[in-house]
Amino acid sequence: MERISLIPIQERIIAAERELSDLLAYPQERFEEIIRDVGFRCDCCSRCCTRVFNGHVFLLDRDTARAREIDPQSVEPAPFPEFCDQNGTFYVSGYALKAKNDDRGSCYFLENTRCRIYDRRFSICRVYPYMLHREPDQNGKIDWRQIAGLNEHGEYHTEIPDNLCRQTAAETREYEAAVIRQEIAFLTCIRDYFLQNRLRHVQKIHDDLMREYGRGGEIRVMVYFNGHLEEHRIRGTVTPKTTGTPKKK
Ligand code: SF4
Ligand code: SF4
Repeated sequence: MERISLIPIQERIIAAERELSDLLAYPQERFEEIIRDVGFRCDCCSRCCTRVFNGHVFLLDRDTARAREIDPQSVEPAPFPEFCDQNGTFYVSGYALKAKNDDRGSCYFLENTRCRIYDRRFSICRVYPYMLHREPDQNGKIDWRQIAGLNEHGEYHTEIPDNLCRQTAAETREYEAAVIRQEIAFLTCIRDYFLQNRLRHVQKIHDDLMREYGRGGEIRVMVYFNGHLEEHRIRGTVTPKTTGTPKKK
């Protein structure tokens, strides 16, 4: 019987578990201190709710459930599916918010620079621009980062009360941990699904089909949601490239 190797996925799971444990070990006081020192204040410019600033808004499962309750049309499979099996089916770890077809790629819920569901906005919308994960800097050095787009938006060196620093640090860490847990759940689901169905990732098929998709072709995507995979057929749109980076992913 042919043996299908799932080691790369297993290695990814182990790496994500290590990342989670490093995140949980990050000193809370240091994070609070950075939040206090930076003193960020949002000036409500709304750029982070557009593709000018963020490539896409990735949703945790709990947020996808809420978005669907508010409006089932508001979500779509997150872009850049990383796995593609030998039959040309893609797999992605969750959903993202849809963007409008305007010149800024505004979020589906953005109305005249204001969020029309502000009180019910999603986890990433609540913690942004705070973050707590490792990323490479301009020189490629990987280290912890706590604020996205530092000095590119908002105001700085404002006074932030201690209780707000504490709450922001706790909420941000909780969000980051939830992202990693969803990633681990997705990878575990794919590992088992591939094994049961004798599937394997084929990078060449992935790259060829993504090129077709970029030219307006249709692909089949299985989206991870709450422990199972949901099937979609999506068609690429031929749009000019944006320079924004994803809020999450
Ligand atoms: S849901 Fe609201 S806060 Fe979140 S990205 Fe959309 S408009 Fe912005
Ligand atoms: S978080 Fe930053 S980009 Fe988003 S609305 Fe506030 S200032 Fe603008």
